[in-house]
Amino acid sequence: TGADAGITLSHRFADELPELAVPWQAAKPPEPRLLVLNDPLAAQLGLDPEALRGPDGGGSSAGLGLLTGTAPPAGTQPVAQAYTGHQFGTLNPRLGDGRALLLGEAAGPGGELLDIHLKGSGRTPFARGGDGLAAVGPMLREHLVSEAMHGLGIPTTRALAVVATGGWVRRERALPGAVLARVARSHVRVGSFQFARLSGDDALLRRLADHAIDRLHPEARAAADPYLGLFEAVVAAQAELVARWMLVGFIHGVMNTDNMTISGETIDYGPCAFMDAFDPTTVYSSIDTGGRYAYANQPLIAEWNLARFAEALLPLLGEDQEAGIAAAQEVLGGFRARYSAAWTAGMRQKLGLRDAVSEETAGEAINAILLMLRDHRVDYTGFFRGLADAGKTGPGSAGGGAGARGDDAGRAGQGSADASVVAEMLADVPEFADWLETWRGLDPDAALMRRVNPVYIPRNHLVEEALAAGEAGDMEPFTRLLEAVTDPHTERPGLERYALPAPEDFGPYRTFC
Ligand code: AMP
Ligand code: MG
Ligand code: MG
Repeated sequence: TGADAGITLSHRFADELPELAVPWQAAKPPEPRLLVLNDPLAAQLGLDPEALRGPDGGGSSAGLGLLTGTAPPAGTQPVAQAYTGHQFGTLNPRLGDGRALLLGEAAGPGGELLDIHLKGSGRTPFARGGDGLAAVGPMLREHLVSEAMHGLGIPTTRALAVVATGGWVRRERALPGAVLARVARSHVRVGSFQFARLSGDDALLRRLADHAIDRLHPEARAAADPYLGLFEAVVAAQAELVARWMLVGFIHGVMNTDNMTISGETIDYGPCAFMDAFDPTTVYSSIDTGGRYAYANQPLIAEWNLARFAEALLPLLGEDQEAGIAAAQEVLGGFRARYSAAWTAGMRQKLGLRDAVSEETAGEAINAILLMLRDHRVDYTGFFRGLADAGKTGPGSAGGGAGARGDDAGRAGQGSADASVVAEMLADVPEFADWLETWRGLDPDAALMRRVNPVYIPRNHLVEEALAAGEAGDMEPFTRLLEAVTDPHTERPGLERYALPAPEDFGPYRTFC
């Protein structure tokens, strides 16, 4: 290959699970050019960001060779991964990486293996009717939103780089093409297990489960039944993950079983979006016409997907099928309690409630405020962050702040140490004044609230603005927004507009994938 990015990639997945790995090569992009590179992540993988970037910043030949998969380090064995999936509840036995490749595994900072995976790298045997390509806009979106999730402390695949291919992708209109390089602890999904199960080869299923235990959930090995231990570890990881999504108002948008990882990392940023006004029925995805993946449904869908995971694992569980089913049901039965515990703990933090506040008092405060936010369509992120400033102030100082929607000048000039932002959001809601008084009486911890309630999230109107500019060749808005959302809890001067809700004229939001 000639190119040398300075690392070697292992091929453990391909070696251990050849039935799930089709050797394949990335397509050669006509005129590749580096659009964005994640320097800290590159460094964690042992890559030199400057060397990847090259003299003109558009990517060295070794850098582009690695990041597009066309000239990976010597010995690399890229594969397209096979998997199955329930898409919107319907089983599709043969999905797999239609436009993606697992390039190989790099060693992370602690020596752990990290997948380097490419999206938009050309058609594979799993492409079905697809063109194998990805467009600049959606790949920039994945980069931005996945790094925002990481900044929020939520487990996720990471974005290493986006390279514009110089080619065109035919969608409703012609769009510039791109390849995303992403990094994950593993790309093994619930759908990978469904694929192994449907193959009828129990030895393959066992090898896959062993691979997942060794790489992702080694603690399961110590369980009385390691495969049940694996199931339990995934139930726990997903309950925690989806609770974290709910707490920040993240809507994944396409929680098919092929888009749910065994590692507990968020994966597949297609039609995802952060909720603006709080409304549990929110759906942004244009293809989710039935609202299956609406905000409030996400925990239920996670549980449903985990039931499909249990079915796939069944040949490995228990002495016989009946015992296996009973054991899996018992573990799955723990999902709701785990989810509730994680969500409630997170909500208590969002409201700054100290340990001394009883479960009952906390529950009442949480339920009451969420109902008000819903009934009055209050900006979810802005409310909780603003509330941190409302803890210590008497009700007399409330009022006179910026509007709940997009009043740039008013909000930007606002001193932060008063209650006016949240008071204005719920002006003319008498119950809110009562709620605020009760809540203040609980002596909320404002410092804690500022640590957990983000100022900056990838708001839909800002994402659209950044992607449109990026697609047109101006990466500046993207870079600025990325800087804001990757350090989401620290309020900084000059970033005021990144903390504001969409202007009125932004209108209803729709996402596509
Ligand atoms: P997703 O809904 O993004 O998880 O994708 C579902 C399936 O469609 C996966 O098997 C993808 O690899 C495949 N796919 C999506 N877009 C394309 C494309 N443009 N070309 C080939 N396969 C695709
Ligand atoms: Mg997917
Ligand atoms: Mg996708």
